[in-house]
Amino acid sequence: MGATDFRQDTALRLILIGPPGAGKGTQAARLRERYQLAHISTGDMLREEVRRQTPHGRQAQALMAAGKLVPDALILEMIGVRLSQPDVSRGFMLDGFPRSQPQAAELCRLLAGQARRLQAVIQLKLDDEEIVRRLSLRRSCPECGRVYHLCSNPPRQTGACDADGHSLVHREDDNELTIRTRLAVYHEQTEPVVEFFSRRGLLRTVDASRPIEHVEHYVERALQAALAQTSPVRNLYRVAVSKRRSRGGSLRA
Ligand code: ADP
Ligand code: AMP
Repeated sequence: MGATDFRQDTALRLILIGPPGAGKGTQAARLRERYQLAHISTGDMLREEVRRQTPHGRQAQALMAAGKLVPDALILEMIGVRLSQPDVSRGFMLDGFPRSQPQAAELCRLLAGQARRLQAVIQLKLDDEEIVRRLSLRRSCPECGRVYHLCSNPPRQTGACDADGHSLVHREDDNELTIRTRLAVYHEQTEPVVEFFSRRGLLRTVDASRPIEHVEHYVERALQAALAQTSPVRNLYRVAVSKRRSRGGSLRA
């Protein structure tokens, strides 16, 4: 494929954007299952670096604990490596990246250089007070990254991950003070990124205050509307839908 030839490009590439706690990881897990996309969460990648105490992890640790963004250069190095791995060729979802204008501009540059394009940027919208409530009661599995909520999405057995039985943890940065710092950082540094993608006609907005399955339904609708504009990927999407229908699943959109 030539550097600017997108005609044969059928891989699905999305960004899930929204404030911390809006439900990006929760929806990404569902999309990953449905479309077999690579789920690229820079937060999960950084937590793994911190756990292994790599140089990147040591550089990021205090900033993450304080709810601040880690330097663009570090994130872009990590993303550059991740986007060159073989599993992303089938398509991917970015979750928690890009979070600043330089990150967004560099992502576009990187993808253009690989003759890859984004099909959609799906924004999950939720107000700050609901976010504080959600994150205060979020629990996550340190082993597989699965997330729960003590009220809206509890594990089957108290304190243990449904998938692997590991003890669930309350993330260090999910305390009210740090959540409020992260929200301020989001409004200041990430909202301009939303605007950046809106100007490029890629943005679809979903109300994330509804129950998880409703949000999932509207994310799928947003995705369907975005794919209707890009024919090779629309065909891929039709295959996914017809496979799901033949398994008895329904397309509610
Ligand atoms: P993000 O990845 O955007 O930071 P998560 O997916 O981790 O957000 O969700 C944050 C918390 O909110 C988790 O505890 C999750 O179980 C819960 N949650 C996610 N979506 C919803 C929803 N639609 N309604 C209620 N709780 C939700
Ligand atoms: P998350 O798991 O997405 O809530 O991210 C947790 C923390 O990791 C953030 O508060 C930041 O400190 C850091 N982080 C994750 N992604 C990025 C990014 N794209 N740019 C800068 N910092 C990030």
